[in-house]
Amino acid sequence: MNILLVEDDLELGNGVRIALEDQGMHVTWVRRIQEASQVLESSACDLVLLDLGLPDGDGIGLLTRLRRNQDAMPVLILTARDALQDRLGGLDGGADDYMVKPFALAELVSRVRALARRSYGLIGETLVIRNLTLHEATMRVMVDARPVELSKSEFELLRLLVKRADRVLTRRMLEEQVLPGGLGNESNVLDVHISNLRRKIGSGFIRTVRGVGFVVDRVVAEGAP
Ligand code: CA
Repeated sequence: MNILLVEDDLELGNGVRIALEDQGMHVTWVRRIQEASQVLESSACDLVLLDLGLPDGDGIGLLTRLRRNQDAMPVLILTARDALQDRLGGLDGGADDYMVKPFALAELVSRVRALARRSYGLIGETLVIRNLTLHEATMRVMVDARPVELSKSEFELLRLLVKRADRVLTRRMLEEQVLPGGLGNESNVLDVHISNLRRKIGSGFIRTVRGVGFVVDRVVAEGAP
């Protein structure tokens, strides 16, 4: 994950950079709006952390230009201005979130993660089992490198089974996690989802354990369908 940090305060900038790099994020740190514009034009960023009071202008100007160009890049404003009016101005200008200095670096890191999840879903694993690849971040599923269209419930169901592969997940657990309100014993919604999944990803991928639930096996036993 590439983060553009626009901050002219050396101590704060350095602290933020180190905190994010500790989380495995790549940080490009610039101190002026002009440099920030160059980085935005020339490289792929996933998220911008933007100070407002910068040596060559107000960060809001940069934000406004981004939004005018229909750029939906997530922007989190870091600023010492805590007046309500300024907060509203920043959010109206298209900021996704706002942090008032001084702030705890741990909170910044968690807001960055939340923002990334919300905006691009950048946080998440890629799970591979047998011929199936599931990208949590993009909610994409591929079977033999062929993309498969799943509904949100189908995806969530498959994600749970794949994440806990080789363990039998009970019907009840799956219903509670995936179906609204859990639905209970009388419902066959879970079976409908499983049957749709089997149609889409191949019938042998999810194994039924009679009377208990379902399991995805990492390795298929010889002779199994
Ligand atoms: Ca500043």
